[in-house]
Amino acid sequence: MNCQEALEKLWQYLDRELDGESSVQLQRHLQHCRECFSKAEFECRLRALLRRSCGCDQAPPELRERLSRLLRMF
Ligand SMILES: [Zn+2]
Repeated sequence: MNCQEALEKLWQYLDRELDGESSVQLQRHLQHCRECFSKAEFECRLRALLRRSCGCDQAPPELRERLSRLLRMF
């Protein structure tokens, strides 16, 4: 898995929508790739924040879109 694929799957992974094999591949990538790992961590924290502030696990689609665009600029 390359970084592009990893980032595409990150949201699904955090939503636990990713199938077993893909999440193993993603986890493996995160273990070796510092860059993606820090992005994953950032998203994780963001998610915890969202959960606390609006009681929901899912970011609204437009926010999600905005955030993922933001993340690509890092
Ligand atoms: Zn990567």
